[in-house]
Amino acid sequence: MRVPLISSLSEHDQLEWIAALNQAIGSTVVCHLDQLTDQELLHSQVAIVANPDLEQIKTLPNLVWVQSLWAGVEKLFDAGLNESIKIVRLVDERLSDTMAEAALAWVLYLHRDMPVYRAQEQRSTWQQHPVKLAGERQVGILGLGKLGQRVAHTLTDVGFKVRGWNKASRFRSNPPYESLQGEQGLNDLLESSEILIVLLPLTDKTKGLLNSRRLSKLPSGACLINFARGPIVDEKALVEQLDSQHLKHAVLDVFDKEPLAKSHPFWQHPSVTVLPHIAAPTHKPSAAQLVAQHLSDYFEYGHIPDSVDKSRGY
Ligand code: NAP
Repeated sequence: MRVPLISSLSEHDQLEWIAALNQAIGSTVVCHLDQLTDQELLHSQVAIVANPDLEQIKTLPNLVWVQSLWAGVEKLFDAGLNESIKIVRLVDERLSDTMAEAALAWVLYLHRDMPVYRAQEQRSTWQQHPVKLAGERQVGILGLGKLGQRVAHTLTDVGFKVRGWNKASRFRSNPPYESLQGEQGLNDLLESSEILIVLLPLTDKTKGLLNSRRLSKLPSGACLINFARGPIVDEKALVEQLDSQHLKHAVLDVFDKEPLAKSHPFWQHPSVTVLPHIAAPTHKPSAAQLVAQHLSDYFEYGHIPDSVDKSRGY
């Protein structure tokens, strides 16, 4: 049974993915959608998707599940897929490691005042600022899922004081960081976070979560890192908080609209570091291995990998 890749990625990227997937599977199983015969289109139960076009998915009337090549799948909810189709997102330990590395890099960037020294250097200014120890710095993480938990462990290993926020308290082990829940937990976390990292999925509940009221709860001089999805942070409210110097700096990897328009004020804002959605890219070889295993489990045993919970939106 051949499995189509449905994607609006460039032809070059699609061919690279097809090659990586077929290499991991060990035979030519994955192909372009338009290579499937009418019979194959009719009987296809699985598709691999990356920024897919809904109309193309609709050409597979008997689809049972889709395997995304990305960790965030909110666009597949918006795509209005048939309710019965299960959505499997990419959950890869390698991705968690990459995100933890990115979080550490940009937390250190803010912790050691690199934006300040960069600006001073451009003005030939020799001025020293007090240095805080990592153990004196409180970091807050919104979202303690596959990525947030790994980030929390990495930052506590380096010595930072870490608190996180998630929906339901259900940690079996005793993690070396505090986890908070609910609106009160969110308030407590915001009020104490000198550096706040956003690692929540984009859902109806998290869209616009960091509005003006919540951003103003952060301590004066706090910094924000958004590695999740742009619409979780109200862009206008963030600019106001930066302009009033209530917030010191924002590192933004994700935006309401990507790529960020050349005319967007974030590019020139002295208190914003713009990154082009590079915090944790999918690692093709390890993702291809995982997807190959999922396909083999399905075709041999009928086992569908864990899928996202459509009622909660992630
Ligand atoms: P995940 O495993 O699904 O974890 C999501 C976390 O958010 C969980 O801890 C969940 O709480 C919490 N959460 C969700 N809704 C909440 C709410 N309303 N209130 C409180 N907590 C809530 O997701 P993940 O794999 O860690 O990925 C997180 C996001 O990162 C993805 O959705 C994607 O958007 C983004 N991402 C970005 C990049 C990049 O390069 N910038 C790369 C990969 C992923 P529970 O623990 O209670 O379930």
